[in-house]
Amino acid sequence: MTVETVQVPAYRTFPVQVSRLQRLSPSFLRVTFTGPELDDFASNGWDQRIKVMLPLPGRGLDDCPSGPDWYGDWRALPAERQMPIRTYTVRAARPEQHEVDVDFVLHGATGPASAWAESAAVGDEVVLVGPNARFAGPTGGFEWHPPVDASCLLIAGDETAVPAICMIVESLPAGQRARVLLEVPEAGDVLDVAAPAGVEVTWLPRSSGDGVPAARGARLAAAVIEAAAELADDLAPSPAVELEDVDIDSAILWEVPTEAAAPARSSGVYAWLAGEAAVVKGLRRHLVQELGVDRRSVAFMGYWREGRAS
Ligand SMILES: Cc1cc2nc3c(=O)[nH]c(=O)nc-3n(C[C@H](O)[C@H](O)[C@H](O)COP(=O)(O)OP(=O)(O)OC[C@H]3O[C@@H](n4cnc5c(N)ncnc54)[C@H](O)[C@@H]3O)c2cc1C
Repeated sequence: MTVETVQVPAYRTFPVQVSRLQRLSPSFLRVTFTGPELDDFASNGWDQRIKVMLPLPGRGLDDCPSGPDWYGDWRALPAERQMPIRTYTVRAARPEQHEVDVDFVLHGATGPASAWAESAAVGDEVVLVGPNARFAGPTGGFEWHPPVDASCLLIAGDETAVPAICMIVESLPAGQRARVLLEVPEAGDVLDVAAPAGVEVTWLPRSSGDGVPAARGARLAAAVIEAAAELADDLAPSPAVELEDVDIDSAILWEVPTEAAAPARSSGVYAWLAGEAAVVKGLRRHLVQELGVDRRSVAFMGYWREGRAS
């Protein structure tokens, strides 16, 4: 008798359709997806990332892979039949209601995801690739790994990181000291976030309606540098290191402490920084090279590059 082992992947595909659209602000659109299989979507919280597979003009989702090796199957397709895939964050998951919310930044019809969101309508279909509740082990896909005894948290990002940061902030325990810095395109993009006592949230609009808007990342960088100076006593310094360069035009800047390393770190500040690659790269240089901050205490995620498609 042969026993077949059924492979249960940590991440799997979920065919879904748009069930609700909510324009949160000039730059943010909340898309609620529903699908019959979303009861198996693992609701991990924190900065849980997912992939969104978008319909290909003229072919829709006809070639969309659905097996356990969805990525291998997608890569095996001829280039003209590969549907665009982009990375997003789960803003809320309600598996019992078969629903997942994703907040899209609208940046014009310059990329397939933003273009899709700009014209999204109820009933539109996409495929999500997300954590599988049937997988026996940890499904991973999030980078929020602070040590339990962090004296203060420094959480900073641009508009693409707002959904992740809001999720993290809303999950923090009351009394946890945290500085949260969010740069958004304009004043109307300041969103409601339920921050527990002890968490100081600062929104940094690039444009306030009058005058010339600040350059992308300028307000965020200044605010992080100021916060780091104020937290200097808690920022666990380490011997100066020669920082290896990351070519952000050809590679993603993704330097994150691993889950296993987190509990071994001593108390102090734990920082999580995400957004446009050049901005995050500059902050990495400042914190690690100039201030000597221990890299094991900071997650640096420069995951999108102005002027370049993902
Ligand atoms: C872990 C992770 C989580 C993310 N979570 C979210 C999320 O929850 N919500 C969200 O909106 N984004 C999120 N992003 C960022 C998103 O994946 C990128 O913005 C992506 O490039 C959007 O794809 P696109 O098809 O719209 O544009 P692309 O085809 O990738 O790029 C086309 C052009 O648009 C520019 N561009 C891309 N993004 C922006 C932007 N935000 N503003 C201005 N110009 C831009 C590019 O530089 C390029 O010139 C996340 C990324 C990662 C890695």
